[in-house]
Amino acid sequence: MSEQSMTSRAGYQPPDPIEVPPLYAWPPRPAAALRWLATGLLFPWGLFFTVLAVVTWHYLTPSLGTMATLEPGWMALIWLRNAALLTLVAGGLHWWLYIRRGQDKAYKFNTHWLATNSRKFLWGNQVRDNMFWSLVSGCTLWSLFESLTLWMYASGHVPLVRWSEAPVYLSLMVVGVFFWSTFHFYLNHRLLHWPPLFRAAHELHHRNANTGPWTGISMHPLEHIIYFTVFLLWWVVPVHPVIVILTGFYQGISPSVSHSGFDQLVLKGAKRVTAGDQFHHLHHRYFHVNFGNTPTPVDKLFGSWHDGTPEAHSAFKNLLRARRQW
Ligand SMILES: [Zn+2]
Ligand SMILES: [Zn+2]
Repeated sequence: MSEQSMTSRAGYQPPDPIEVPPLYAWPPRPAAALRWLATGLLFPWGLFFTVLAVVTWHYLTPSLGTMATLEPGWMALIWLRNAALLTLVAGGLHWWLYIRRGQDKAYKFNTHWLATNSRKFLWGNQVRDNMFWSLVSGCTLWSLFESLTLWMYASGHVPLVRWSEAPVYLSLMVVGVFFWSTFHFYLNHRLLHWPPLFRAAHELHHRNANTGPWTGISMHPLEHIIYFTVFLLWWVVPVHPVIVILTGFYQGISPSVSHSGFDQLVLKGAKRVTAGDQFHHLHHRYFHVNFGNTPTPVDKLFGSWHDGTPEAHSAFKNLLRARRQW
């Protein structure tokens, strides 16, 4: 059976169960771990956001001299460039997958298109609703946290580490962004599922059982405040500003890829790249599983790891029925 023919009425189901990355294997599997770091974590999206962060630091970020004093002018420019880059990635994916329907429903997790007439969403339209929360609240709080962090470095409150001084340390910190961001995501997301916080904030993101690129950071402002505390690590662990910018991109833009709703992006001919994140898609579908991301598999430790198989599904269903939550 071809992979595409695995698209059932419930949507595309990847053929293999989701596994814990070989980085955590015991006994260690160094070759497999390195291969996963290169192809599972960094290529293509991790590398894409790293290159984008380097370009942005050089050409789309105010000078350290300007950022040494907190002023609304340069902070507004940070918002503008973040909004433009988010629109480029989320809007580009949305255009290709949902407007042009470039690959129809091939590799689409959910067989439905996005809602255009639902009272759950602002103006009854899921995409407009998602764009509103992403740009107005998401981008603003992301840019505020980023600006404050860049100011901490520019003003000398936190020592700035230069590439010429510590290239190995900074390279490790670049990779560290992906682990820190996903670990932080588990923690803040688990907190957001605490019923009072879920009702007050996180339910807004969960209105999107069927996600699209603009769903990524479509969240309540209170959730954005918690979510973007990811930057605070760099207030105590000194790095280079490019790592601060990368943190913003990984936290602010990469969710538009992982929420794209498609497991794979079909390029020219038979070429494909990974797009969506089945692990997080299962969280949107079932709520009580997969609170984190696969690079930091905390869900495995706490028994909330859903690997996407029907067996895992019936096991969770029975567990939740026993807890009378289903
Ligand atoms: Zn989500
Ligand atoms: Zn959630």
